[in-house]
Amino acid sequence: MARIAIYQVDGTDYQGVQFPNIALMKISAYHKSIGDTVEWYEGILFASQYDKIYASKIFKFSEMPQIPNNMVIGGTGIDFHNKLPAEIENAPMDWEIYPNTPFHYGFSMKGCRFKCEFCCVPTKEGRPYNYNAIDELITNPSGGKNLMLLDNDFFGGTNWEANLNRIAELDLKVCFVQGLNIRIISDRQAEALAKVKYYNSKFNKRYLTFAWDKFKDEKVIIRGIERCNKWGIPCEHMQFFVLIGFDTTPEQDYHRVEFLRKLGCKPFVMPYNKSDKYQKAYTRYVNNRIIFNSCSWEDYEYNPFRKSLNR
Ligand code: SF4
Repeated sequence: MARIAIYQVDGTDYQGVQFPNIALMKISAYHKSIGDTVEWYEGILFASQYDKIYASKIFKFSEMPQIPNNMVIGGTGIDFHNKLPAEIENAPMDWEIYPNTPFHYGFSMKGCRFKCEFCCVPTKEGRPYNYNAIDELITNPSGGKNLMLLDNDFFGGTNWEANLNRIAELDLKVCFVQGLNIRIISDRQAEALAKVKYYNSKFNKRYLTFAWDKFKDEKVIIRGIERCNKWGIPCEHMQFFVLIGFDTTPEQDYHRVEFLRKLGCKPFVMPYNKSDKYQKAYTRYVNNRIIFNSCSWEDYEYNPFRKSLNR
């Protein structure tokens, strides 16, 4: 019997929601199934107590931990292409390590139809392919009626319609946490989407997340919004990720954010370079709802262009 430790280096929290790490859940389930003990890693001082330590690092930008000899570190923050051994990949998710998580969790598909230059999904996951059926994802004893999907391109999977129908049949609340692609949403997709109980990641507000990353996409974004409206998804239910600092100017960022605000959608800025002064300030301004709703960008005290903006 081996003593195994698991370590979630990053990616634990997003907008106040704790995100289980699927790789660690599978590692835990596999080792328990062969009679090993599994516990959370207590830090470098205790490293020698374990036979093996598995660490998972999701983001490149998070700090690298100290790595003792008995630690294996993996995850997309280390290498896009590393894979779990088949016996672990095929293990179920061990919910005991994340007790009381109030949702079911996983992928109905992987991959993406697009190849946005700033995104790692096409390299990491490739073209879209179906992954789990909805029923296979309902495994968490504390999950209740909530399902969080991690799909990067839900409508890119060929089972999207069957999956939405099953979500509706099971009366689940669903969160598409990575967002949905509104640029090519069809009438049939918008109609089916309007029939499910879509929610945010805390499952306490009706909303869907989309993205408006490229300034030039305005026309297709408007068409997508109108399509959703037509089938009963109001603008108030739409959050938009707005990528800034990649290939847009501050004026183009302002235009997208204010355009969405006027429609009643919720812009949520994603800075490409988190250490850039302007990007930091604009992110803080837009994403803090109290500030966003009570003060204009022109008047915002940390706006680095405050004096030069003359709108
Ligand atoms: S559509 Fe989204 S997931 Fe797909 S490549 Fe673009 S940013 Fe990445």
